[in-house]
Amino acid sequence: MTPHSLTLTLSFLIASFCVIVLALYQYFNNQLDIPFVGLFGITVLLINYFIGRILVSQYINRKIKPIYNIIQRSKTNEKKGLSPKEFNTNVIENLDSDVESWASSKNEEIESLKSLEQYRKDYVGNISHELKTPIFAIQGYIHTLLEDVGDKKLERKFLKRAAENTDRLSNIVSDLEMITKIEAGVAKLNKERFEIRQLLEDVVQDLVNQAEKAEINIKIKNKEHEEYYIYADREGVQKVLINLISNSIKYGKKGGETVLNIFDVDEFVLIEVSDDGLGIDEQHLNHLFDRFYRVEKSRNRNIAGSGLGLSIVKHIVEAHGQDINVRSTPGKGSTFGFTMPKA
Ligand code: ADP
Repeated sequence: MTPHSLTLTLSFLIASFCVIVLALYQYFNNQLDIPFVGLFGITVLLINYFIGRILVSQYINRKIKPIYNIIQRSKTNEKKGLSPKEFNTNVIENLDSDVESWASSKNEEIESLKSLEQYRKDYVGNISHELKTPIFAIQGYIHTLLEDVGDKKLERKFLKRAAENTDRLSNIVSDLEMITKIEAGVAKLNKERFEIRQLLEDVVQDLVNQAEKAEINIKIKNKEHEEYYIYADREGVQKVLINLISNSIKYGKKGGETVLNIFDVDEFVLIEVSDDGLGIDEQHLNHLFDRFYRVEKSRNRNIAGSGLGLSIVKHIVEAHGQDINVRSTPGKGSTFGFTMPKA
């Protein structure tokens, strides 16, 4: 209802009431003068309408317009409110729905600010926790070395440990950098057409030493002559494969096997990395791709890791508009699979 129609309705009701009273009065006094009653009704209607318009406009201008303009400004983030014309035609009609949608959007904003604040606290806490372990280790080795150990062999061992921990620190920092870039939308995907089986072979080649140390055999199931062309960011997919395959080694079992498989699924190629290692309990599966989430804390194993790898993997796969999933049986092994569009 607009201010115009509201005033008109009220004036009409008042004029009708006056007309009825006057007509009844004249009727019971045997003086009924219909043209006079009609003229009287129209006059009352007009007077009421003009006075009503002024009063309603004043009321709206004083009470409702400031509220409405605040809502409009906060919605559009602009300094200006509604023009008088816009205001008079829209205000009452839209007021309740506008206030309702404004209030619910404010509630959503508050909720998301609260969860961002919680996320910020957790994030800072997690980062300092992850950095603390290698920093303390390096600190310990260096202080011991400063005290002159006197045993060359032991000194080398400490230096080696300190170096390993600096590598760990640098890995955590570069993972954090990568996550920050992806989340800020700065990391751009350089999509190109390339053959995924060849990339798998290259990644396996790079990880073969790590696999040999852990006594794990890596096997690509697809035949050498088979080719699977995908359209994706080569570096990103390489990072995904490195993370998944090195996880299969880290959490695999001695003498075990990592199997890589490529499947042709309609317009997509599905790449799976399976191992016969530790496996993951169902309760952890939902959180596996969260930042800093590590099952090891509960498993109490001393495997170096930041809990950022799978989070990066998920980000990269989702930036391609694709999905990653995991199937796992504790004690038997895990399979991580993700899709990429065919070229
Ligand atoms: P991390 O740096 O700890 O390896 P990730 O994000 O790569 O971090 O993995 C998160 C957690 O998921 C790991 O700490 C590990 O507990 C579990 N996980 C990942 N891959 C495997 C796997 N192939 N088998 C068993 N557990 C795994």
